Amino acid sequence: MIMTNGVGIDLDRFRIAGEDGGARLHDLRAIEGAAMFERFQTVYRMLVSAAAAAGVGLDAVDLRVVDVFASVSREVAVSLCVSAGAADRQVHHATEAVERLPQVARLLRDGVIGVAAFDAVILQVTGVEGPDLVAAIDATTAADLAEMGGVSRGDADQSARRAVAELDPDGLRAKREARGKGVTVSHEVDGSDVAISTSPEDAARIDTSLTAVAETACKHDPRGKAERRHDAAVALLTGGRFACACGRDDCPVTAPAEEIAAALAKIVVHVVADAATIAGDADKAGWMDGFGVIDPHHVREVAARGDAILRPLDIAGLADGAAQAGNPYRPTAACDTAVRAVHGVCSEPGCERPAWKSDLDHVVEFNHEDPAAGGATCPCNLNSKCRLHHLYKTFADGWIDDQIIDANGVIWSEVTTPTGYTVRSRARNMWLLPEVGSVPCRHGEPVAPGVVDDADQPSRSRSRTKAKHAYRMQIRSRRRYVTACEATARAADLDSAAPPPF
Ligand SMILES: [Zn+2]
Ligand SMILES: [Zn+2]
Ligand SMILES: [Zn+2]
Repeated sequence: MIMTNGVGIDLDRFRIAGEDGGARLHDLRAIEGAAMFERFQTVYRMLVSAAAAAGVGLDAVDLRVVDVFASVSREVAVSLCVSAGAADRQVHHATEAVERLPQVARLLRDGVIGVAAFDAVILQVTGVEGPDLVAAIDATTAADLAEMGGVSRGDADQSARRAVAELDPDGLRAKREARGKGVTVSHEVDGSDVAISTSPEDAARIDTSLTAVAETACKHDPRGKAERRHDAAVALLTGGRFACACGRDDCPVTAPAEEIAAALAKIVVHVVADAATIAGDADKAGWMDGFGVIDPHHVREVAARGDAILRPLDIAGLADGAAQAGNPYRPTAACDTAVRAVHGVCSEPGCERPAWKSDLDHVVEFNHEDPAAGGATCPCNLNSKCRLHHLYKTFADGWIDDQIIDANGVIWSEVTTPTGYTVRSRARNMWLLPEVGSVPCRHGEPVAPGVVDDADQPSRSRSRTKAKHAYRMQIRSRRRYVTACEATARAADLDSAAPPPF
C-alpha cells in the first residue's frame, strides 16, 4: 500500500507567540476553526465543480444532483479516512456553512467560535426552511455570538435556539409536536433500556425527582448516585418502595415513604418568562432551568398547566434591598431568582450545570464579621456556580474570578487561569432580564472580603484563606483598573478597527 506523506505540520507556521497556557490553547482552537472553515469551503467548491461537470445546478431537483453529492462525499470519505455517514455530514455542514449560515461560519474562520459551537448552531437551524428566515437567524445568531466574549458550545446552542424561537416560533412548535410522546423499551445483548419521550418540563421534573428520591437514602448507603437514581425510577414506576440499603440498625431513615413523599412535593421546574408573552401580547422566548430557551408558545403552554404557579418578579424592588432583613448574607427571593435567571447556568465558561441546581456565590467574598466591608449581597456581586466550580473557586490556588457590569448594564463573568489567560463571558441570559444589570447598588466598595465563603465547604487554615482572599481583591481591583483604562482608550479612538480587548 502506498501512503502519501503527512503534511509535517510545523506549529511555527502558525506563528503562535508566547508560552504554553490558556492563551496558546485559545489560539490553537482558533486555527482549528479557520482550518475547518477552509475545509467547508473546499468541499463546497468540489460540489460546485462536480455539478458543473455534470451539467446540473446544485439547487436543481434532478437525480444527477444526488450523484454529485454522492461522488463528492465519497472523495471526502476516502481523503479523510472516515465512514460514508461521517463524510455525508461533512458535505452537509459545508453546504450549511456556505449557503445557509455564512455569517456564523465567518466567526469560525475568525476564531470567535470553535468547531463544536458551529456544529451546535447547524443542529438548531436544521429543518428551518425559507431563505429569508434562515438569513435572519444567521444574522441574529452571528451578531449575538460576536458580542458575548468566550463562546462555549452551550452558548452557541442557546443563542441559535433563541433566534429560532423568536423568529420561527411556529416552526419550533411544529417540531416539538412532531416529536410525539411515548415510552420505548429495547432489549440488548447485555441489558435493556427504557426511554421516555416527553416534554422538556416533564423530563426536568423526572430528572429532579429521581435525584430527590435517591437522596433520601442515608450517607452509608453503599450504592452510587447513578444506581440509587435507577432504583428510585424502578420503584416509582412499578409501585415498589425505594429504601436506604445501608442495612444499619441506626439508619436515620425511619419512614422512607414519608420522606419520599416530602421530597417529591418539593420538586419545582423554574421557568422565567416575560409577562406580556404569557398574556399572549408578545412573543419573547423564555428560559426553562435545566433545558434552556423555550419558544413563546411553549412559555404559554407551561403557564397554562394546572400545576403551574406564576410569580411576578419584582426587579424594581430589588434596588431597595437585595439582602433579606436580618440576614445580609442571604439574598431575597427576588434577588435569588433574578441572579439565577440572568446567569442561567454555572458562571464558569463551558459549564452547563443549571442555575437552580447550582450555588449562589458571592464573587467578592462575603464578610460575616463585618458585612459592610466584604462582598455585597447584590446582583452585581452574585452569580451561580455549580458545586464543583464553587469548590474550585474557594480552594484552588492561582485562579481569579470576577464579575463586572459595564457601562451598558451588561453583566460579565471573568475567569483568569493560573497561566494568566482571562476569559470574559457575558451572563448567558442578559437578553431575558436586561434590567438586572442596571439595578442600582446600595453598598460601598468591598475593602475586606470575608474568609468564609460557604459554611458547608471543607475548611483549611483560616489565615491561608484570608491571605488568598486579600490577594484576589488586589488582583481584581488591578484588573478592573486595567479594563477601565482600556475602555477609556477605546472611547478616545472610536474609529479604531481593533477588536475589543475581550
Ligand atoms: Zn441508611
Ligand atoms: Zn460549573
Ligand atoms: Zn451592587
